[in-house]
Amino acid sequence: SIPLSFFGGVGGASKAGILIKGSNYLEALNDVKYVLFDKTGTLTKGVFNVTRIQPENGFLSDELLAYAAAAEAHSNHPIAVSIRAAYGIEIQPDQIEGYNEISGHGIEATVKGKEVFAGNEKLMNQEKIAFTKPEADGTIVHVAVNRVYAGYLAISDEVKEDAASAIRMLKELGIKKTVMLTGDSKTVGERVGHQLGLDEVHAELLPHEKVAQVEKWDARKLKNEKLIFVGDGINDTPVLARADIGMAMGGLGSDAAIEAADVVIMTDEPSKIPEAIKIAKRTRRIVW
Ligand code: ADP
Ligand code: MG
Repeated sequence: SIPLSFFGGVGGASKAGILIKGSNYLEALNDVKYVLFDKTGTLTKGVFNVTRIQPENGFLSDELLAYAAAAEAHSNHPIAVSIRAAYGIEIQPDQIEGYNEISGHGIEATVKGKEVFAGNEKLMNQEKIAFTKPEADGTIVHVAVNRVYAGYLAISDEVKEDAASAIRMLKELGIKKTVMLTGDSKTVGERVGHQLGLDEVHAELLPHEKVAQVEKWDARKLKNEKLIFVGDGINDTPVLARADIGMAMGGLGSDAAIEAADVVIMTDEPSKIPEAIKIAKRTRRIVW
């Protein structure tokens, strides 16, 4: 039988905005030694500002932004939401005749009869579209219209207020490694990693490569050690499912992520990760 105080622990956590889906996960939280994070929406706010619009090949800035916003019309990725906000004009649904979200790459859409690609270098390379090496900081979204390179948008995100202190608290709780797994560029990933004091950063990962990374760390840990993956659930549900403890940001996160996760952080605050571990340790003390 499950000791009553386990329910107390789960209940206490839920009052703190941490939803733990069962006492076995509360117990497992005691033995966490590795915490792997997604970046966008997990360690960063996932609210990007457009910091530069660089048109090429005769496109105007407004056109470039309009094509990007239209291509992103149906996506719930934080990048898409931010580009639409920067454009500020509502996009008529009948302008978009075809739409395909290419996980870890970007978007392919048919906008007013034109084929538009909006995404990262991987997407441009895959489509064999020559692009300008950006002279800008931040996450770069390249745009091509009818296979002609139209330029790029540079967008940037901020780290969450409590992210650095969350990493420090995890260290104090004896976590061996804090690791970022991101689909974003090395430049952006490493800058954020350095800013937050993470032990390792692995960038330019596709969703299946994030799963492989979790498996790699899993193989490395000792028998009783546990691993957390924390994500916002925008295309990382397979990773959430694979980790010993999958944690999802519940506010920004998708329903699928909340479903796939073992622990849901309702307030989206990284500091809830060490707090969950502390609640677990307190509960274990009461039980044993
Ligand atoms: P993260 O690990 O930062 O959460 P994702 O796997 O969601 O990243 O995306 C990885 C990269 O793929 C992004 O940094 C971006 O370059 C590109 N990308 C993904 N979705 C989109 C989109 N809707 N529009 C443009 N680029 C995108
Ligand atoms: Mg993501």
